Amino acid sequence: MKFSYAVYKDEETEIQMHVDELLRHPDYLKIKMNLYCPGEECDAKLSIIRLSNGTDYFRRHRGYYHSETCGYLELDQVPVKSITEYVTENGRMTDDGINRQKQDAMRTLDNYLNPQIPIREEIKPKNKPRKVREPGEETEINVGTKVVYDPNAEIIEKDTKNGDRKILETRFYSRMPHQISMKDSNKNLKTSAVLDQIIFSESNLYVEIKANFENISLKFILPEAFFNNSRTRLMPDELLNYLKIINEYIQKENKEIFITTMCQSQEIDLEDLALWIFEPEFMSFQTRNGHKFATLTSLVIAIQTKSI
Ligand SMILES: [Zn+2]
Repeated sequence: MKFSYAVYKDEETEIQMHVDELLRHPDYLKIKMNLYCPGEECDAKLSIIRLSNGTDYFRRHRGYYHSETCGYLELDQVPVKSITEYVTENGRMTDDGINRQKQDAMRTLDNYLNPQIPIREEIKPKNKPRKVREPGEETEINVGTKVVYDPNAEIIEKDTKNGDRKILETRFYSRMPHQISMKDSNKNLKTSAVLDQIIFSESNLYVEIKANFENISLKFILPEAFFNNSRTRLMPDELLNYLKIINEYIQKENKEIFITTMCQSQEIDLEDLALWIFEPEFMSFQTRNGHKFATLTSLVIAIQTKSI
C-alpha cells in the first residue's frame, strides 16, 4: 500500500515526514535510509517509490514486516489479480514518451523551487475490509515488452511489429543532483541544474555542460551520438551553433537558466558527478519564475528574439 507519510527515527528524534518534505530535505540520502511505518509500534522500514509519472510515495521495504500492533498490517496484503511479464528489448523512447518525461521533470523542478506545503492529512488506517481472493480465481499473466534505452537502437512503438503487446517504455528516475547517490550508477535519470558554462572541444563532436544545483557541481557530457541523434533533423553544426548561442547568452547576460534533461549515468563519482545526454530532444530548459522551453530550439529562438 502507499503511504504519503513515514516516521523518521534516529537515536534522538522521531518525526513524521511527508514524502515531499523528504525530497526537498538537504539530508535526503541519510533520512531515506531510516524511515518507518507510521503504524503503532511498527518497525517496518519504508522505502520511497518514485514513479516516472511524478507520483512519489512510501511503501513497505521488502525485507521488513508490520508488527502485530500495526493498523496497516492487514491493509498491506492485497492479492494480485493479474501480472505482466516483460521481455526486454533494446530501443529508443517514443516522442510521446520523451515529452511526458520532460514535462514531468519540469514540473518536479517547479515544485522544488516553489514548494507547496503538504497538508497534514489524517494517517490512521481506514477500517476497510480486506480484499479476499475468490476461491479458484487465478492470476492472469500477460506478456509485454520492456524497452531498455539504447541510443543506437530503433524507436520501439506500439502497432509496429509488436501488435497489441503492452510496451513499457524505459523508466527515467527523477533525481535532483543532491539526491544522486552511488545507487544511481548506470541508470536512466532525469534531473535539473543551473547552467554555468558550455565547453567545446576543438575538433570533435564532444561538448561538456558545466552546471550546479544546491552547492553541487556537475557536468553533462554530450557525446558524438548526441549530435547524430536529432529527431527533428538538426545537423551537428546547427546543434553546435545552438549550444554556442546559449553559452554566449549565459556568459553575457549572467542569467539563471536551468537545464532539465533526461540523461544516463555511468559509475557515479560523487566528487566528479557526470551525466551523459544522448539525444538533443532529451533537453528542456526553464527559469526560476516558471518560463519553460521544451526544446533546445525554443530556447535559442527566445534568446534570439530577446524574449528572455
Ligand atoms: Zn506498520
